[in-house]
Amino acid sequence: MRFGLEPRSGETGGPRPDAPGTRRAADSLAELGHQIESCRACPRLVAWREEVAATRRAAFRDEEYWGRPVSGFGDPRAPIAVVGLAPAAHGANRTGRIFTGDRSGDWLFGSMHRMGLASQPVSVSRSDGLRLSGVWVTAAVRCAPPANRPSPDERDSCVPFLRRELELVGPLRVLVVLGQFACDVTCRMLGLRPRPRFGHGVIVDGPGDLSIVCSYHPSQQNTFTGKLTEAMTDAVFGQAMYLAGLGPAADA
Ligand code: SF4
Repeated sequence: MRFGLEPRSGETGGPRPDAPGTRRAADSLAELGHQIESCRACPRLVAWREEVAATRRAAFRDEEYWGRPVSGFGDPRAPIAVVGLAPAAHGANRTGRIFTGDRSGDWLFGSMHRMGLASQPVSVSRSDGLRLSGVWVTAAVRCAPPANRPSPDERDSCVPFLRRELELVGPLRVLVVLGQFACDVTCRMLGLRPRPRFGHGVIVDGPGDLSIVCSYHPSQQNTFTGKLTEAMTDAVFGQAMYLAGLGPAADA
């Protein structure tokens, strides 16, 4: 166990017999991946992810959707982990890899590529050859939620997967949290009190030598409006790399 990521009482969000927090802790990322991808603990999200996979978007009507929970991916010894909200209905819920197959992923991996963390600037499928170095990418909730809004119970049910993944990756030095939701879940999971106020570029001291770097989420709502620019995302990764000992700090 690292960083004080021990379970907190009540976190599994209720009496769901197959919730992640009731299972034996996975010994490896591969075993954890199997646990995540077979999870059916949240009835509303199971129904939604499978309905989206069955009906599909017209542009992807010839594709077979993943339609299951999504594991993290990247460099298993990375000092940096990126925590997003959840799979996109027609992005990771379609392709089976987090931030893959949607505009948010293009934005994120475009920045990682410019910063030397990703082998290519786009992420279109699980077989596209993308390799990450020094970074692991994951999400707070592993099933695509309607309107990108997991319920508090669904959020809490899924946290044990995030916790175990972050214990198995690394050793981690920096968590980059994308958006308020991921920030809140991460800080709650770490037991940080008082709860830090979210803001783009805010850096929070975590347990031990862990740092949390906050970023606006690379949703189209933020990137199309200019609220989040490429330079701002690059600066976040530059700061994360500096804190992780991977390089000089980016200009603010
Ligand atoms: S959101 Fe998490 S806990 Fe709920 S069904 Fe999906 S993988 Fe399981």
